[in-house]
Amino acid sequence: MAVVTVPAQARLLLATGNMHKLGELRAILCGSDGVAGLREDEVIASRDLGLPEPVEDGVTFEENALIKARALAAATSRAAIADDSGLAVNVLGGAPGIFSARWSGQHGDDQANLDLLLAQLADVPDAHRQAAFVCAAALVLPDGTEIVRLGRLEGTLLREPRGAGGFGYDPILRPAGETRSCAELSAAEKNAISHRGQAFRLLAEDIARVL
Ligand code: IMP
Repeated sequence: MAVVTVPAQARLLLATGNMHKLGELRAILCGSDGVAGLREDEVIASRDLGLPEPVEDGVTFEENALIKARALAAATSRAAIADDSGLAVNVLGGAPGIFSARWSGQHGDDQANLDLLLAQLADVPDAHRQAAFVCAAALVLPDGTEIVRLGRLEGTLLREPRGAGGFGYDPILRPAGETRSCAELSAAEKNAISHRGQAFRLLAEDIARVL
């Protein structure tokens, strides 16, 4: 990957084309509640640098997060972070897992992915519908330092989608101890318990230490 020009103030780069993720990460790292004491303009998404995305050919969330963070750090010589996430269903042995975004064959077709999963689990009784959202968040420094942190949001799969918020499989995962699906939680409620929130908050402590 060619070396690119990075804004001088950038201290941390996030490998993503998803501006929602950038907002979530800035909320955790920056400002008065921030864990890492960074300013928002010091945290920049790879999409804004015009970098191509690397091939995610790892077989675990950790490997794929590292592939993305390594590629970004190598192309920019800056500290880079990336995450990889998905839904792990117990009765399916952890699938869709790293294939969550393309479970129905079409990458990013949330509705088709969710419909297929519900159909596959139609005969699975409520007592066996445990699943978790899983996230690996990776930090890679230009000197080769690599740190990966994990987050999990445990819950139960519903039989019908519920709620209009969120994305992906949110309408069918009810977090443990909740009466609502993830799609019925506010963004702040979900961030407080989510797999991504957990992993990024853990990684924020590392970022505060090493940056
Ligand atoms: P990615 O890590 O952004 O590539 O997400 C992979 C896929 O996992 C998404 O396309 C969703 O299908 C699923 N996924 C990951 N996190 C969530 C979540 O918080 N809610 C619902 N689905 C999720």
